[in-house]
Amino acid sequence: MFISHKVFLNSGGGIGGLTLAVALAKHHDIDVVIYEAAKRLTEIGAGVGLWPRAWKILKALGLDGDLAAASLDPPTEDLVTAFQYRKSDRPNGLHFYDLHTQGNLLKFHRADFQGVLLKHLPPSSHTHCSKRLESYSQSIAGPVELKFQDGSTATCDLLIGADGVKSAVRGSLLRELANQAVMEGKPDVAQEALAGIDPVWSGMVAYRALIPAERLRALSPSHRALTEPTQYLGKNAYIIVYPISQGNIINLAAFNVSGTEGARFDGPWVKEATKEAFQTAFANWEDDVQILLQAVDKVSHWAVHTVRHLPALNFGRVAILGDASHSMEPHQGSGAGQAIEDAAILAALLSHPQTTRDSIPLALDVYDQIRRPYSIKISQSSRLNGRYFTFQYDGGEDLEHCTDEELKARLVDLGLAFTDNWKWAWSTTVDGMLAEAVQTLNDRYDNV
Ligand SMILES: Cc1cc2nc3c(=O)[nH]c(=O)nc-3n(C[C@H](O)[C@H](O)[C@H](O)COP(=O)(O)OP(=O)(O)OC[C@H]3O[C@@H](n4cnc5c(N)ncnc54)[C@H](O)[C@@H]3O)c2cc1C
Repeated sequence: MFISHKVFLNSGGGIGGLTLAVALAKHHDIDVVIYEAAKRLTEIGAGVGLWPRAWKILKALGLDGDLAAASLDPPTEDLVTAFQYRKSDRPNGLHFYDLHTQGNLLKFHRADFQGVLLKHLPPSSHTHCSKRLESYSQSIAGPVELKFQDGSTATCDLLIGADGVKSAVRGSLLRELANQAVMEGKPDVAQEALAGIDPVWSGMVAYRALIPAERLRALSPSHRALTEPTQYLGKNAYIIVYPISQGNIINLAAFNVSGTEGARFDGPWVKEATKEAFQTAFANWEDDVQILLQAVDKVSHWAVHTVRHLPALNFGRVAILGDASHSMEPHQGSGAGQAIEDAAILAALLSHPQTTRDSIPLALDVYDQIRRPYSIKISQSSRLNGRYFTFQYDGGEDLEHCTDEELKARLVDLGLAFTDNWKWAWSTTVDGMLAEAVQTLNDRYDNV
């Protein structure tokens, strides 16, 4: 096999881009070049959790040893309690459900996770920081021409946009798609493509914080967040907490519905939040939550944006992956997992023995065919979990008017509903999809 092409991953620092780079760099005939907008490869944010489905991909890439060392709990395939659930938007919190999963959610500090990916990038790959892609153009036979914000340019045979929710690659790709659709007399497709360029506000904001375990312990020596991954649910808001970094830090993400889905969000999407704004949002919640709010020092405020379901993830020699292609509401802890799945499928197709420089567009077509429907499905189920966790589902409106007995029964039903919606993440693997992708590409090559 000989593929003479270079991969340009705009998002060197992103989990999706780095996973693809690690997977592709195992193939010596593929040059991996990463262009990253940031000055340094750094992960902002806080903790990140990975479910067994994504974990098995990283294991196959040989990252499991280093990642396991960075996780508080060792990976297991046993039945475990992943989270406990409380109704907390009242002075007396009510424990109502334990989520049991086959295999555990591995929880990392993002910087530790990224450190492992960087360690596994081979020296043959090249990373250029402070390179913000502005746009690209391509001709049918290639190459792809890249234009950066600093005025510099570059060319490549294959461009993978792993540049996150505001993806510049997605913008150029969808404009190309729209132009072609207009030429083919398909105005609806053109409109759908153009509508996918700008992300959409979910109506939710997330407060994110890392709490030193020592500080929480000083306030409440046996606070459950020190040892038990917990979700505190309430009307229009919820909080998720779990320990990371060998238990020295408690990762906290608190979601609050503060607007209408699809409305325009004014202001920066990520900023420092005042502690007061955060505390006000959860003012009447149970004591356990009040102690967490006291323990928080620095809080960041994220306006959660998503990417619309797109008509295609590829055009010619360009494709997008991860948040660039399907940024979703984060209520299943699966956005990074989906980026990892994209990377695994792309790597298998691009390293296929019959994939050459000329057949890259065919391989990307198969990527789109296999990955797009699945990531759309996960994006929908993730959104639904958000509705469950904030009591915005049918039947969640009048929980306050139930007797204690009725309330508990209805909350247990809720637990069963979100478990059912979520179980794909620990009870399935990507193996069938991988085999289907390779078989589909084999068939396409047989018919060329
Ligand atoms: C509150 C919250 C909690 C979450 N928790 C989880 C979780 O527990 N588990 C999970 O699986 N997912 C979780 N997610 C989702 C997860 O964070 C994302 O899905 C994942 O980080 C996406 O990775 P990515 O590589 O596609 O994009 P990103 O991580 O956004 O990386 C994009 C990279 O591209 C760079 N870049 C951007 N524009 C350009 C450009 N024009 N040129 C060059 N480079 C560029 C950026 O600097 C960045 O390094 C959570 C999300 C939120 C908001």
